[in-house]
Amino acid sequence: MDMLKIADAVKQNSSIAIIIHVNPDSDCLGSASALITALRCMGKKAHIFVDSPIPGRLSFLADEDYFASGADDYDVCIAVDVAAEYMMGSMKEKVFDKSPVRCCIDHHGTNKGYAQYNCIDPSAAAAGEIMYVFIRDYLKVEITADIALRLYAAIASDTGSFQYSNTTARTHIIASELMAKGIDAPFVMRTLFERKRIEQLKLRAEVIENLKFYNDGKICVAVVDNDMLSRYKMAFEEADDIAGLPRSIIGVEVGVYIKVKGPREIKASLRSNEYVDVSSVAASLGGGGHIRAAGVTINASQDEAEKMIIDALEKVM
Ligand code: 5GP
Ligand code: MN
Repeated sequence: MDMLKIADAVKQNSSIAIIIHVNPDSDCLGSASALITALRCMGKKAHIFVDSPIPGRLSFLADEDYFASGADDYDVCIAVDVAAEYMMGSMKEKVFDKSPVRCCIDHHGTNKGYAQYNCIDPSAAAAGEIMYVFIRDYLKVEITADIALRLYAAIASDTGSFQYSNTTARTHIIASELMAKGIDAPFVMRTLFERKRIEQLKLRAEVIENLKFYNDGKICVAVVDNDMLSRYKMAFEEADDIAGLPRSIIGVEVGVYIKVKGPREIKASLRSNEYVDVSSVAASLGGGGHIRAAGVTINASQDEAEKMIIDALEKVM
C-alpha cells in the first residue's frame, strides 16, 4: 500500500489532477470532491477530470469549479475509485498518461495496480472509506462538515445504505464519525435513494413486466434500451437504480441489468446475493468490479451479449 508515498507526492507538489471513472457514482464523485476540498485547504491547485456527464441528482456532491475547464499540466494525478485504466475513458490519454506522478486510490479487488503508486484496499466498502483515512491521517487535514457529507454519501452509496455485504464494523465506525461532524445525513439518504421522478417509476414498472429468468430462476435479467428511455424522457444515468432490482427477487442469486446503449454496445451490471463471485465472471468477459457488484461492456448484439453473460454465469453456478 503506497498511501504514504501518495501523501508525500501531494505534499511535495503544487497541482493535483483527480480522475474518476466513466458513468460516475456517488463513491467516486464524493471521494474525489472530499479530496479536492482537502487539497484546496492545503493551498494546492486541484481539479476533477471525468469523461462522462455528472448525473443531476449527484450535483450536490461537487461545486462547479471543482471540475477542470481544460487540460492543463498537473504535477500529480490520482485516479479515485477507478478499477482499470480504461474506466478513465479519454482522461487516461489526456491527463493520466501525461502526469509525471501517477497514483491510484481504489477498493476494487480486480484492480491490477496500473499506477506508479497504488493504494488498493478491497476490504474497504467504498473508496470513501480509504479517502477518510487518507485525508485525516496522511494529509492531516481536518474533516470539515463539507468533507464529511461527501464521504458519507460515498460510503452510503457503495454499501446500498449500509445494507450490502461489504459493510463492516469499520464502515459503521467511519460513518458514525462522519455523522458526528454535523452533516444532514437524512438529506443525503433521501437524495441518493428515495427521490425519484414519476418517469423513473414508470420505467421500473415496464422493466419488471419484462424480466427474464434463467437457471431455475436463480438468474434474473432486466433490460433497458434507448427506445424505452426516450419514451420516459430519461438518460441511462437516471436508470442506474434498476441494477439492484433483479437480485431483490426471492430465489434469485444473480441479477443482470443490461443497458443497450447502441446496436453493438451493451453495458451489463451484475449483482449477486450469497455465493456467486460476479467480479470474476465480469473479468472473464473483459470487465471487473467487486464480488457482489461488477460490470462489463460487451461489443456485441443484445442477444449475443446476453448469451455470453448467461453462459459465463451458468458455468460457475
Ligand atoms: P456498475 O454495474 O454499477 O456499473 O458497477 C459495479 C461495480 O463494478 C463498480 O464498482 C464499477 O466500478 C465496477 N465496474 C463496472 N463496469 C466495469 C468494467 O467494465 N470494468 C471494471 N474493471 N470494473 C467495472
Ligand atoms: Mn466504489
